[in-house]
Amino acid sequence: QVVTRFAPSPTGALHIGGARTALFNWLFARGRGGRLLLRIEDTDRARSTDANRLAILDGLIWLGLDWDGEPISQAARADRHAEVANELLANGRAYKCFSTQEEIEAFREAARAEGRSTLFRSPWRDADPATHPDAPYAIRIRAPQDGATTIHDAVQGEVTLQNDQLDDMVLLRSDGTPVYMLAVVVDDHDMGVTHIIRGDDHLTNAFRQKLVYDAMGWPVPVMAHIPLIFGPDGKKLSKRHGATGAAEYRAMGYPAAGMRNYLTRLGWSHGDAEFFTDDEAREWFDLEGIGKSPARFDFKKLDNLSGRHIAAADDAALLKEVADYLAASGQPPLTERQRALVEAAMPHLKERAKTYPELLEKAQFALTERPIEPDEKSAAALDAVSRGILAELTPHLRDASWERDALEGIVKDAAERHGMGLGKLAGPLRAALAGRTVSPSVFDMMLVLGRDETIARIGDAAS
Ligand code: GLU
Repeated sequence: QVVTRFAPSPTGALHIGGARTALFNWLFARGRGGRLLLRIEDTDRARSTDANRLAILDGLIWLGLDWDGEPISQAARADRHAEVANELLANGRAYKCFSTQEEIEAFREAARAEGRSTLFRSPWRDADPATHPDAPYAIRIRAPQDGATTIHDAVQGEVTLQNDQLDDMVLLRSDGTPVYMLAVVVDDHDMGVTHIIRGDDHLTNAFRQKLVYDAMGWPVPVMAHIPLIFGPDGKKLSKRHGATGAAEYRAMGYPAAGMRNYLTRLGWSHGDAEFFTDDEAREWFDLEGIGKSPARFDFKKLDNLSGRHIAAADDAALLKEVADYLAASGQPPLTERQRALVEAAMPHLKERAKTYPELLEKAQFALTERPIEPDEKSAAALDAVSRGILAELTPHLRDASWERDALEGIVKDAAERHGMGLGKLAGPLRAALAGRTVSPSVFDMMLVLGRDETIARIGDAAS
């Protein structure tokens, strides 16, 4: 069974890059009946905060990325990490190093001065245990010194490092704390992780991690190091380019489905598929489709895919998402009447809206109570002549059957009587019904508002 994991460090909120890493792990596991585990890499006590941890979980939940079991705290597993270091010590794959920080510094200093490699070579690697002092020691892994280490990466291919580039890394510090590189391997092994999918900024760590797997005789999971995300200008994505946190996209009102679709395409492709459902993404997602070069964040494409997901969404589901968005952004909830109107108008609102705020902007006609206060542009359309024509409409509307054809007929007749086109009358009508230029078509609004409200709003504007 496939087991993947997302292993964020709670030293910041959920970054777009982290969100994509989580998404790839989720797609890979969920498409294969596998499991996605969550490990919080909270060993950096000074920089890890509970607020960040919660923000990361919140971001994942918003994106709809569910994980299996309880989140695992890496810091809580320090004893187990130490146990493995001691096991390696016992079987000779690691050794006690009594070198002090000062001695290591002096070694490096001398190496620098002589132009040699500054990789520390511990004098204790082959020392006779009989010569060991009674002093604190670090546990160092016995790394191979010749030959090469090769990682078979599912994205990057074969990546090789000459072993003379590897030092005998510390596994357990002299104060008894495990190092991060050991913790990652022990956790991934104990969690039964079969596939490690993460940013390629961790590729160099993979060589050191492989040392631990090999020393323990553990199989190395499949590794897939994904290229980082760049901005449109080809430089590493940063605040300069726009929002970089998942929460910021949520606050801007992007739908989670659009965000998932966009992030899935960010560095992964499946033929020329751009717009797809979660089911399709889960079915199609594979490691082969991950590109080798950094993907560039394309804000236009995000807008486009978000708009298509809003347009394709089920009306009732969309209404719930809009309500969630209002709540998450601290805005007042819709009243029952507003809900009913927005739901009725949904088929017209969801066309061409890229975000929930854009959808709500179009829905203002349904959210505003009489009397409608026309904005400047709309007010200009309500001149004396058009107000007169609006007043004429009222008796006809009172008797009309409330259907599009009939309504269109009434408005058209009025326009013709005054020698103007239908389009000319749409301006004042829109001003009366919505008070703004962004709205659904006038007939759609009439149908949604119903006879009484329509007549009342037209009456207000005509008087
Ligand atoms: N905690 C690391 C990070 O947030 C991820 C480590 C890993 O995936 O192995 O970048």
